[in-house]
Amino acid sequence: MDKRERWFNEGAPLFQKAMQQLGIAHRLPTGDLYYACPCCLFVFPYESLAEQNLTIEHVPPEALGGKGMLLTCKRCNNDAGRDFDSHAQKRAEFQSMMAGKGTSRPMRAVFEASGIKVNGEAQSTGNGWFLQGVAKQNHPEKLDAHEQALRAATERGEAPGFTFTLKDRFSSQRADVSWVRSAYLAAFSALGWRYILQPALNPIRQQIKPGSSANLPSIIGFNPDHDIDSRQILIVEEPVNLNSVAVVIGQYTIFLPDPWGSLTVEQLAESIGELRDGAGKVQCTLNGKIVPWPNGPMYLLDKMAS
Ligand SMILES: [Zn+2]
Repeated sequence: MDKRERWFNEGAPLFQKAMQQLGIAHRLPTGDLYYACPCCLFVFPYESLAEQNLTIEHVPPEALGGKGMLLTCKRCNNDAGRDFDSHAQKRAEFQSMMAGKGTSRPMRAVFEASGIKVNGEAQSTGNGWFLQGVAKQNHPEKLDAHEQALRAATERGEAPGFTFTLKDRFSSQRADVSWVRSAYLAAFSALGWRYILQPALNPIRQQIKPGSSANLPSIIGFNPDHDIDSRQILIVEEPVNLNSVAVVIGQYTIFLPDPWGSLTVEQLAESIGELRDGAGKVQCTLNGKIVPWPNGPMYLLDKMAS
């Protein structure tokens, strides 16, 4: 049995039981066991595995060091990669570059020497830049003229008046959604269906839906001093104005409503806003119950309830 089958067989009965206990099992199609995509809550029968409509989702995204953690539907998985995760990846590279570290891949850039612009790529190596014009993105004469301008200036012993501008744009808002989504999926994997099916989590799902433009108040704390490999889930008991499920993924801490819906997303956003300093850094001491970081779905609350 592969991992996807195992995760389906484990998740589907617990999903059905949670729906029964919440009194909403009548919404499910009858006669079979179904697994719901935790992002869109569409339900899928076992056959969806063979049809590749249920896919292994990495938390955080694979390009940001994530591991396969759970099943989501193909559409949510693919769309999030395009709409949100790509922005998180570009932002991470930009931050790494600003911190003087190397980046894993070149970024699109425009170089200008003596007024001649060419399209190319720039990659931070950690102790400098590797810059390269891309032949197929430029008229060959332009590349030659650009190179000649650089050479001529060097021969004259002048600084060539060289500038470059990075063109790889990202949206910080979309990058943030990617982190909220990763946090939601980690919390789901740890706590299970009963956790995500409570109304306090609805605004989170609205936000992480493919193509969503829902504007979620920021529930993310950023702290550049944190180790990028740190992973933690904490059910926060203190301070009480942060009663939440705090998910730490590297430099980001995402505060999701707790299993009792003690605080709404808006209330959490307000508490975090008060802690944010001028540079955007959020620093606070949290106390509460540590939940193990999931390597696969654990469904802790579902198992406790049954
Ligand atoms: Zn989905």
